[in-house]
Amino acid sequence: MEQEINTNVVTEQTVSQQATVEATQEQQKPAEPEYENCSYSKLGVYEDCPFKFKLRYIDKHYVNSDSIATKFGTAAHHAEESIANCIKAGQQVNYPAIKAQYLIDMTKLQGKYYTTWYDLDKTNRTYEQKKWLYLDQMIHKLEYLLSIRPSLRVIGAEVPIRYVHNNKYLFKGSIDRVLYDDVLKKYIIMDIKSWPTINGKGDELITSLQFAVYTRAFAAANKISESDIICYYDLPFDVNTEINPEFGLPGIYQSGTKGFMKRAFAKIDKILTAIENKEFTPKTGKLCHWCEFCPTNPNQTEEGKRLCPYYCLWTNQNPTFEVANKFTTLDEYEEINAQYYGIQGGER
Ligand code: SF4
Repeated sequence: MEQEINTNVVTEQTVSQQATVEATQEQQKPAEPEYENCSYSKLGVYEDCPFKFKLRYIDKHYVNSDSIATKFGTAAHHAEESIANCIKAGQQVNYPAIKAQYLIDMTKLQGKYYTTWYDLDKTNRTYEQKKWLYLDQMIHKLEYLLSIRPSLRVIGAEVPIRYVHNNKYLFKGSIDRVLYDDVLKKYIIMDIKSWPTINGKGDELITSLQFAVYTRAFAAANKISESDIICYYDLPFDVNTEINPEFGLPGIYQSGTKGFMKRAFAKIDKILTAIENKEFTPKTGKLCHWCEFCPTNPNQTEEGKRLCPYYCLWTNQNPTFEVANKFTTLDEYEEINAQYYGIQGGER
């Protein structure tokens, strides 16, 4: 039986010996001083490259990493939030207004990123094509889903979560969409991704750190069992895959195989321990090419320059795994970096 769900309350309780969880609307406030801010995306950066994590979060070399991909996704998130809130309130969805706002967002984006607006993604589609796919079809996806599976109800959109791990690390965020299934008697947590395809995202389907944190926080805040929650990714721009038989739609994927909560929190603990132990060995490879600290990245900005001398030399034209400089120890970083970039005195 569904209980009244707390999408906005302040509550705190222990769900295991290691974790304290609460949900609150106060996510915009700075972290309480006794906790360290943490997030699954920060942990993901550590997994990608511990040295990048160090440059970004320990040494505080923040580089504006706004991109067309993230802003394109944000516009769809705003539209989806408005739609879900209308449905939850029992109101007719004002599609003309939501579409008009989406078009304004797209026009601004196209103006700012005009050089990449017509680039092809890995499914051979441009942003222009995906914009019309969303406006003409996928903007109606949630309503369609609810019409073909009437046991589903919208519980909330952008539901805030707050979770304190090991009484030390504070995770904050919001769940894109929460539904309840009256037949299954389960909550359905959905995360909307603007990925064009699920291909290459196997880890997220098996052991998603993001869904593990969402599940623990939501269950504890609402005094329900973690096993009463099922997690799904909703990819509105993924229409080339098979129809999900449960939902009658493409682009919906269940995340978290058996035992994923245990695996995810073991992984979170392992990463946090490595950070505490100051293990920041660079993880070089093809991904360096897209790193803000890599000179081969064509979009590298001034703030990211001359900070990493260990990058991989891989580019489309030069598919090698050689590195610019071999990493030895962190103690030798300053000297290697200064020599490699010809840095003198305090300059950078
Ligand atoms: S360029 Fe490569 S090695 Fe250097 S910080 Fe970025 S990902 Fe790590």
